[in-house]
Amino acid sequence: MLTEKIREIAKKLLEEGKIEAFLCYEGTSHPFRNRAVLVKSPEEVKKLLWPSFGVINLATPLQKLKGQKAGILATGCVSRAIVVLIQEGQLKREDLFVVGVPCPGMLDPSKVRDKAPEIIDVIDDLKDEVLIVTPEDKIKFSREELLRNNCQECRHPVPPLYDLLLDFSGREKSPDPYRRVQEIEDLTLEERWQWFEREVLRRCFRCYACRQACPLCYCPTCFVDDSRPQWVGKTRDLIDTALYHLVRAYHLAGRCVDCGSCEAACPMDIPLRLLTKKLEKEALLAFSFEAGLDPEAPLLFTSFDENDPEDFMLTSELKASGKI
Ligand code: SF4
Ligand code: SF4
Ligand code: SF4
Repeated sequence: MLTEKIREIAKKLLEEGKIEAFLCYEGTSHPFRNRAVLVKSPEEVKKLLWPSFGVINLATPLQKLKGQKAGILATGCVSRAIVVLIQEGQLKREDLFVVGVPCPGMLDPSKVRDKAPEIIDVIDDLKDEVLIVTPEDKIKFSREELLRNNCQECRHPVPPLYDLLLDFSGREKSPDPYRRVQEIEDLTLEERWQWFEREVLRRCFRCYACRQACPLCYCPTCFVDDSRPQWVGKTRDLIDTALYHLVRAYHLAGRCVDCGSCEAACPMDIPLRLLTKKLEKEALLAFSFEAGLDPEAPLLFTSFDENDPEDFMLTSELKASGKI
């Protein structure tokens, strides 16, 4: 149903000359992989579909279309990334036609893959159930169980910015968006470091697929690629790797829209989002700030309020000591 609506709208926009191209997803020969596709003529819209496995945020390739009037399919997190890019001067609102979808959430290829040794098809009802088709059988699973972690924890499935919103009933806002972050926060300092070392530092081999997939990592020269000065070593030394992940996470503080593209792109299945999700939580608690909701709103790091409490700078030990 969503696929038909998307094709119909893209065709109309292209026929009427309202856009030069439409950015969406298409299928692949793999049963649980979708990829971004750009169509430029009404005849091509038959390629388009609603992606149950649309793991890459379309706002990343959108930036290559600067200067063209482009249509784009936008879930909540794609729309939020577009908002941040407009706020940061990377995209112009007037160049875009945003077709918003109240998002049902995307399936996680890794979770699906683990369900059967050989899968020939995946049938997603976009509501409650997913049928995994194997050579011998069709096995039914709860959709919720197979969703990507960021979709299970999504706070904004409805796009905040759109020109046209598809009539569809998507997911509800997650009641517990920080459960996984809380599990790490509940560890001791030493255990948290062990988790970071074990799950992130020792497994990361610095391919930078996470950076390439992120719609908000758009610096022409990333600090890890700079050689004059060289901010960070190019080795797999744990300190170099830690520096990459910590600086990248801080560069995304108040900007990350929790689309999970970084995590989906990682060939090592590193739970990268937990770092940016933690910073999202801190921005929400300290400043009631959430990224990508209003293109006219000030950015977290370029605004200052003299009533900001500032006690976010204190460690819990300092607060408890009563010295400050
Ligand atoms: S994070 Fe939210 S908006 Fe983005 S794909 Fe998942 S459910 Fe949809
Ligand atoms: S850091 Fe990851 S989750 Fe956040 S916007 Fe970039 S790709 Fe999306
Ligand atoms: S994609 Fe994964 S392995 Fe590659 S740099 Fe990022 S975290 Fe490391």
